[in-house]
This record gives sequence, C-alpha cells and structure tokens, in this order.
Amino acid sequence: MDNLANYVAIGAAGLLGLYILSLLMGSLRQQSRMSRHYEEQSLLFRARAEGLQRIRAEEIEKTQNTWAGLRKFKVARKVNEIADCHSIYLEPHDGRPLPPFEPGQFLTFKFAVPDQPSDVIRCYSLSDAPGRDYYRITVKKVPPPRGKPGIAPGVSSTFVNEVLNEGDIIDVRAPNGGFYLKREHKRPVVLIGGGVGITPVLSMLNYIVEHEPQRETWFFFGAPNKAGHIMKDHLAQIAAENPNVRMNICYSDPTDDEVLGVDYHHKARVSVELFKEVLPSNNFEYYFCGPPPMMNALDADLKAWGVPEADIHSEGFGPASVKKPKPPAAEGAAAEAAVSVTFAKSGKTLDWTPAAGTILDFAEANGVDIASGCRAGSCGTCLTAVMEGEINYETPPDAPIEKGSCLACVGTPKGPIKINA
Ligand SMILES: Cc1cc2nc3c(=O)[nH]c(=O)nc-3n(C[C@H](O)[C@H](O)[C@H](O)COP(=O)(O)OP(=O)(O)OC[C@H]3O[C@@H](n4cnc5c(N)ncnc54)[C@H](O)[C@@H]3O)c2cc1C
Repeated sequence: MDNLANYVAIGAAGLLGLYILSLLMGSLRQQSRMSRHYEEQSLLFRARAEGLQRIRAEEIEKTQNTWAGLRKFKVARKVNEIADCHSIYLEPHDGRPLPPFEPGQFLTFKFAVPDQPSDVIRCYSLSDAPGRDYYRITVKKVPPPRGKPGIAPGVSSTFVNEVLNEGDIIDVRAPNGGFYLKREHKRPVVLIGGGVGITPVLSMLNYIVEHEPQRETWFFFGAPNKAGHIMKDHLAQIAAENPNVRMNICYSDPTDDEVLGVDYHHKARVSVELFKEVLPSNNFEYYFCGPPPMMNALDADLKAWGVPEADIHSEGFGPASVKKPKPPAAEGAAAEAAVSVTFAKSGKTLDWTPAAGTILDFAEANGVDIASGCRAGSCGTCLTAVMEGEINYETPPDAPIEKGSCLACVGTPKGPIKINA
C-alpha cells in the first residue's frame, strides 16, 4: 500500500514537474517571440527613422545645390536603347554637385536646334534614380502624325536622337514636377509605364530597389513587342535580383519569335482587367505614365475598381508644339460665356470663349506672341504677368506660378482679364 502511495506521489510530482516545465518553456517561447517582435519593430523603426533622416538630408542638399534659370550640362554619354531612342547622361559643366530630385521628376531643356527660328524648350523625365553624379534622360523620337508623312517629325526628340553628341554642352533647368514617388508613404506600389512613358516610373523603380528593397512593388510595362521594349536587360536584372519586385511585361503585338514567359509575361495591353487577374487586391498606390489612351483608360478604370483618387498618380507627356483639340462649343453658349481678354503689350482687346482654348491658344490664334515650351504647364516658359482679373486651371500645373502671373499654356480666364503680352 505504502509502495502504491509512493508511486502515486512520485507520478504526481513528475506530472507537476512536467507541467511547470511546459509553463516555463511556453513562457520562454513567448518571451523569445516577443523579443523577436520587438527586434523586428525596432529594426522597422530604425529603417523608417533612417529613411526620414535621408529625406531630410536630401531636402537640405537640394536647397543648397539647386539652381535658378539655366545651367550648362555636358553630354557625358549617349546610349542607344532601342531604335530611335537614346539615353543621355548629363554632367554639370561647372563641376559642382548635383541636387537630389524626387524619383519621377523631370528636367526642362532649352535646345538651340539648327534651322529653328527660336530656341526649343521641352521637358524630359529623369530616367534613373537620384543620388548619382549624373542626370539621365531617355528620349524617343516622335514620328509625324499617322497618315501625314509630309509633316516633319518632332523637333526636339529628333535633335536629341540624331544631332546631339557626346561632349556637347546644353542648357538645363533644375529638376521639377509634382509626379513623384511618395517616399514617406512606404505603401506597396504599382508602377506602370507605356512606351517611353516608362522613364519616370523607372526612376521610381531604381530608387525602390536601391533604398527600399522590402517595399512590395508591381511593375507593368507595355509595348507592342521587343522592338519597343526599352531597358529590357535592366528590367530583367531587377526582376531576378529583387524578390519584392513583380515584373509584368506586356506585349500587345508580339512577333512569332518572341517567347511568352521569356521575353514577355502577358500578351495584352496594360489594363485594369489585367490588374484584376494579377494583383492580390486593389489596395496599392498607383503611378502611371504613357500614351493618352492608356492613361485615360487606367484613370477611369482604377476609379471604377474602387481605388481612391488619392492613390492614383499619373503624368502625361503633354502635347508640346501640338495644340490640344478644342472642345466644341454648344450653340449659343459661346456668346454667353464670352469674356474680354486684353493683351496689353499688343494693344488688343478680344472676346474669349471656352472654344478658343487656353490663353496661349487664344493669343497665338490672334497674332499675339507668347513664348512657350511644353504646353502642359510643366516648364514655365509661358509665364505671363496678369495685370487684371483671375485665371482658372483645370488641374494644378507643375511649374511654379509666381504671384501676379499665369501659365498661359494651361490657364483660361475666369472673367475679364488683362495680361502683359
Ligand atoms: C513632364 C514631361 C516629361 C516628359 N518626359 C519625356 C521623356 O522622358 N521622354 C520622351 O521621349 N519624351 C518626354 N516628354 C515629351 C517631350 O517633352 C516632347 O513633348 C516630345 O519629345 C515631343 O517633342 P518634339 O519637339 O520632338 O515634337 P514636336 O516638334 O513638338 O512635334 C510633336 C508632334 O507634332 C507633329 N507636328 C509638328 N508640326 C505639326 C503640324 N503643323 N501639324 C500636325 N502635326 C505636327 C510632329 O510630327 C510630332 O508628331 C515629356 C513631356 C513632359 C511634359
């Protein structure tokens, strides 16, 4: 009997011991889980703090090294990317440091193009990440409009591709633009480029893989086929080296020798229909740039898919020297909406209606000279003093608008105005 009691006591003590041991183990496991959690949190916190510190340091550097007006740059290198498309590597002629820029911003150029009556002003996006000792742009030659071979191809893009040479010195304005990666957001992103519209999102991609490789990034690039596949090898290398970057190359018209899964991932145009198949949800920040039909469709379809407007960021390359089509005037509406525009220097007072387009369109149609560049509110060339009245902008332009002035290429009169042109 005593033996049995002893066995029971020993068994109970053993069980109790096991129970205490398991409690201890559990608590140790929990402690190690918690310390791992704290470690992860502190790493994340440190990475965020370092990121913010870097952004702040760059802000200071930007203020110290930026320049007003034009600065001379040397074409250090010219690289052929695909047919009729070159990357230009620019180094400051004065040898001073380059200010950092936001990934997605652009430079404004003043080119002295042979045989042109005046300097040609155009904007080109920076196509590499900030923080290098050069700036890089990538320019595609713009052909004549379809069915009009008699018209000359684009002035500036032809000049850059066919005339500009290594060693040439050109005039450049400081980086600018409101279309850039919101670095402080840290949210997963979808970057989308169509054709040469890849340039600003490529700058964002290069920045992400260098500074935030943990950030979930979906990259979509659309081209007809390999002939338009800008930076093919570079994109493939990024995809191979960065597990958080999901590369999606879309060919709308692949040739017979181009292999699905090797040269490209989808035989399709970039579209929200494709995103619905590929993305795990719509919960991303979207950045896109490309030809107008792609941009318009993405903008409308992302909104219809429930993506908040605040998460949709886009930039069009603007019509440069081509005028935007004017909206047809409703019968009778034109006369009603007419407002008087006085061009003070030219001594002309004329009736403007919405059908006349922007102030720049209206000025040109009436023989009033206003210098212009991008015709997209980006380069600031058409800045004109407003002496009386107010100006309307459909969307806030990129170029800064000095107090008392307007950007004639994107502005329209709110009521009667008098401007210094
Ligand atoms: C913010 C921003 C960033 C940009 N980034 C880039 C970039 O990274 N890479 C890039 O390649 N581009 C970029 N662009 C576009 C670039 O600025 C130019 O608009 C583009 O190169 C065309 O300029 P161009 O002088 O060559 O053409 P333009 O001379 O302006 O001609 C444009 C088109 O009009 C046609 N045309 C000319 N005259 C007539 C006429 N009388 N009637 C009908 N058609 C006519 C031409 O044949 C051509 O098809 C960007 C634009 C902006 C606003």
